[in-house]
Amino acid sequence: MSKNIDKKQLITEVVQGTAKMHRLDKEIGSQAAIRLRQEVVRELTPSSIETITEFSMDYSQASKKNCENMIGATQIPLGIAGPLKIDGTYSKGEYFFPLATTEGCLVAAVNRGCRASMLSGGVTAHIESKGITRAPVFRTKNLKESRDFVRWIKDNVSLIKEYVEKTDPHITFKGIQTWMAGRNVFTRFIFDTADAMGMNMAVVACDNVIKNLIAKETTARCVSVSGNMCSDKKPTALTFILGRGMSVWAEIFLKKEDVKSVLKVDPKDIVEVNNDKNHLGSELAGSYGFNAHFANIVAALFIATGQDPAHVVEGSMGVTTAEVTDDGDLYFSIYLPSLIIGAVGGGTMLDTQREALEIIGIDVKKGTPGDNVKKLAEVMAAAILAGELSLLSALASQDLARAHVVYGRAQEYKI
Ligand code: NAP
Repeated sequence: MSKNIDKKQLITEVVQGTAKMHRLDKEIGSQAAIRLRQEVVRELTPSSIETITEFSMDYSQASKKNCENMIGATQIPLGIAGPLKIDGTYSKGEYFFPLATTEGCLVAAVNRGCRASMLSGGVTAHIESKGITRAPVFRTKNLKESRDFVRWIKDNVSLIKEYVEKTDPHITFKGIQTWMAGRNVFTRFIFDTADAMGMNMAVVACDNVIKNLIAKETTARCVSVSGNMCSDKKPTALTFILGRGMSVWAEIFLKKEDVKSVLKVDPKDIVEVNNDKNHLGSELAGSYGFNAHFANIVAALFIATGQDPAHVVEGSMGVTTAEVTDDGDLYFSIYLPSLIIGAVGGGTMLDTQREALEIIGIDVKKGTPGDNVKKLAEVMAAAILAGELSLLSALASQDLARAHVVYGRAQEYKI
């Protein structure tokens, strides 16, 4: 591809399958490359892409770091819910939640959960950083060699740590687990990546250990830098049990009068729906989600704040508990074993996503590295609790269909 490439030539190359559109950015600069690709799309598809091409983000960063072959941006409505008072280790005070969604009713649901929770004094949140994982798989000659390799790993943990931590000042090696299956050895590296979600950092660190240490010191051959024991972007029992990224909890004691006045049900109604739907129903379905809709709030928060949306998979797993207390009030809690998020890196650096993080009060230039992402995890957990509480109440009051028609279709409910 030459510097003088024009629309006609590019269209010919695209049609012939020889175009390398991603190289355009280097050859003619991001802005010209984006314009040229837009022309090609207009020419070769039925769309005039009039609105996709209108955006405010810094295309030079986005096209280099976030999206190859960039032609524009997709807009998603952003709503706000809150305030909600949170008493966490890293989050203290009242917070608003930016939610990017196209599902009418979702922001209203989180907001209603916040209102009820505020009347009862707010939410308590707790976070435990489990670390991000990457799990290379290795091939050996036989079981004996597999066993020797596992022993070598155990005897050389300090050396592995050294090779990991050479790759980035923000990465810390937390440990490594191993599993053998015949001539295959599965490893699971665990890292603390400060305020970053850390999957890029993790893969670079593993690559350094594999190529510059394991390949030189052992006979094991790396088959793949990821052998799925991580388990990235897949729901697994391993992740559910051990946790990955951030494990977060949130709870609230809701007074029965606040449940009745805002959520229009009795505490026992919420408990009944939670037991039947979230526990028995999920058990029968073989689900990893013992909750009503964590994924809804996780997705909306992730898109708003620039998280990797594929990690909604892990964020959809978790448990909701509900009990009537001795005083007849409602005890309500959520537990997410694996919230995979960052306050820096990836999509968090884009302008609108950074502003959404600012709404939550996240500023990575301030505070101790690592504390920002823990605060973000606690705040997200509080929002998820509010949304979960509201949906279970709507189900208990048989009000879900009406709410979705009114909010989701902007129509009067006629039945
Ligand atoms: P990243 O975009 O590579 O950013 C991380 C970098 O931010 C660090 O290397 C660090 O570089 C810098 N940084 C500055 N301040 C920091 C702080 N306080 N704490 C931590 N880091 C800080 O991000 P990543 O989190 O490693 O990876 C996220 C991306 O990975 C997402 O875009 C996601 O979609 C993608 N992803 C990748 C894979 C994969 O297998 N590669 C899998 C899933 C997702 P310095 O130390 O040089 O400042």
